[in-house]
Amino acid sequence: MLLKLYGTRGSVAVCNKETRKHGGNTTCIFIEARSGDMIIVDAGTGIRELGKDLTARGKHKLNLIFSHYHWDHIQGFPFFTPIFLKATELSIFGPPDEVSAEKALSYQMTMPYFPTGMSNLPSKITFKNLKKKLSIGSIDIDTIVNNHPNHTRGFRFTEGNKSFVFLTDNEVHAQDGKTPYDEFVSFIRGADLLIHDAQYTDEIYKKRLGWGHSTYNQVAALAHDAGVKELMITHHDHSSTDKFIEKNIKEVRKKYSKHKIEAAADGKTRRF
Ligand SMILES: [Zn+2]
Ligand SMILES: [Zn+2]
Repeated sequence: MLLKLYGTRGSVAVCNKETRKHGGNTTCIFIEARSGDMIIVDAGTGIRELGKDLTARGKHKLNLIFSHYHWDHIQGFPFFTPIFLKATELSIFGPPDEVSAEKALSYQMTMPYFPTGMSNLPSKITFKNLKKKLSIGSIDIDTIVNNHPNHTRGFRFTEGNKSFVFLTDNEVHAQDGKTPYDEFVSFIRGADLLIHDAQYTDEIYKKRLGWGHSTYNQVAALAHDAGVKELMITHHDHSSTDKFIEKNIKEVRKKYSKHKIEAAADGKTRRF
């Protein structure tokens, strides 16, 4: 499978020269299965660029999975070109636990927030409840409940003997969290790559307890405990400059020198 990152910023999109290297678009990742199936996770502002790429390639049968419906994970949806094309067949999978994906997406496309409503779109959109496990083409997907305000899911994507885990918007050591630390360790164990939210440093985290995000050191320890060699840190805080992110990565690499640790960036790809 091919993985490409289209949005790695947390909370709100940013655009300035200090954040250009790691990118300013909010969460969106794209996975292309060996079977040819197209899977998108989250519709942060990064999905706009992905929409252009898919349209240019003539790809019209698409699957979009939502981790949750906070702004930074849905806001790019009204700017996703394929939804305005008649040829598009889009299956949307969202956690139904608090609100359906259909409701969450419709709200943001309602007057006065957006001029065109969901019901006027020419594409064929089918909404499906996100189950604990599902398969799309050659990829099996397992989900876990993250520790985050509002119901949020993390994902493990497996194709053959290769797998990667995408856990964004997750506070691994949340007090009164929905999922205990050990369950995350088991969920991740043996994966080829862990992509995890580390919006904060340990210092900043002290003032952000319960906000649903983790630190560089916490997620490096998680990768270590789960025996995952490669870690990619994502959901960069909107106030984190490229320089600040790289300084934090450098420090965490010193402590976990046997692991390959890097910061996620828009446009980064990985083939499994
Ligand atoms: Zn987020
Ligand atoms: Zn969130």
